[in-house]
Amino acid sequence: MIEVERSWEDLTDWQRSLREQFPIITAHPDLAYLDSAATSQKPRAVLEAVREYLVGGNANAGRGTYPWANATTAMVERARERVKAFLGDPEPGRSSVHFVSGTTEGLRRIALDWLTELLDDGDEIVAPFADHQANLSPWLEARDALARRGVGVRVVEMPRQAGSGDYDTEALAGVVGPRTRFVALTHVHHVYGGDMNVHRVREAVGPDAVVCLDAAQSVGHLPVSVAELDVDFVVFSGHKALALPGTGAVWARRARGPRFSPSGWDGTPNTVGIASLATALDWLDAAGLERIDRWCAGLAARLTEGLLELAAFEVLGCQLSLAGDSPVQRRASIVAFRHERIDSGDLGFVLYSHGFMVRSDSHCQAGAEPGDGSVRVSLHVYNTVEEVDGLLAVLREL
Ligand code: PLP
Repeated sequence: MIEVERSWEDLTDWQRSLREQFPIITAHPDLAYLDSAATSQKPRAVLEAVREYLVGGNANAGRGTYPWANATTAMVERARERVKAFLGDPEPGRSSVHFVSGTTEGLRRIALDWLTELLDDGDEIVAPFADHQANLSPWLEARDALARRGVGVRVVEMPRQAGSGDYDTEALAGVVGPRTRFVALTHVHHVYGGDMNVHRVREAVGPDAVVCLDAAQSVGHLPVSVAELDVDFVVFSGHKALALPGTGAVWARRARGPRFSPSGWDGTPNTVGIASLATALDWLDAAGLERIDRWCAGLAARLTEGLLELAAFEVLGCQLSLAGDSPVQRRASIVAFRHERIDSGDLGFVLYSHGFMVRSDSHCQAGAEPGDGSVRVSLHVYNTVEEVDGLLAVLREL
């Protein structure tokens, strides 16, 4: 906690100046938005970029030859390069960026347009069976599509540690074999909030397997470096990273397997969404991902510590590793918990009656049973210490 306390002191003024840039937040001082894992709020710069694009020269991309159309085409191409730079791509000439509506669409396109071309009879996919449904269904769909063509592929469960939910990379080394061609991972778990230590996975799976990262809960929250993680695909949702709904991207490196070029006729791209995404990435870089991470991890740690003092609550996922520099698994911006008697849905209503907007269900987690609901608090840079303390005060009263 000492580490966390210190992080308030040097980041408080910085955070206040950023929070003021979110009109929806400042317009509702009595409400606390604590559901950023579902979708984020947008800073003024993004709202202005949207207006500027729509008022200053809205046209289709890659089609017309008049100035608005040319400018739109150039903006989309610039946005692709922006995504590469944002992900620390060391070889932008060897990678591609495809705009999609979000992580769900991006992962499905990899599964159905690319993976089915890669795999042969007897090959194996390793997939996370307790992460977001969006990072399991596509791989099962790819397996079924291949089975219809007479190609038998196995989907093997990614091993995980009991309790924390983190991947078990030691056990993973025993699961992968010469037929493991593709490994699907999540960077930050959308319920447990843990950083899933994906940097340890390449060593466990060896140099040849394709690694695909669902970065829906990490892009926009912490620095994501494709070079450091040594992954082949990164997929994320722009709307969770301060851009408009309907935006997202697939970053693909051509190092293992064929070039990723989604099949079929794409139609008109979401040009205004892409403009918003490029501006959101500029805003995030200027704000500093390392500081955003430290702020959100600090708030999540404060909330976790507060909850652990309340006997009636169970915190899901990792319990330890609260400080930002912990060598063991650390919690990013998400904390999920449940009360021993009060239903999570009811708890959500109670919290909203006090102005706290949280999510309470099973959060689209693959394999979740009806009784698995929890309250999820998910934070972003606009959230404050006062909001976390206010939430804890209400929970304490229960
Ligand atoms: N993956 C993770 C880890 C998520 O948290 C989410 C959304 O909550 C998704 C995938 C799906 O994202 P989208 O709904 O933007 O497609």
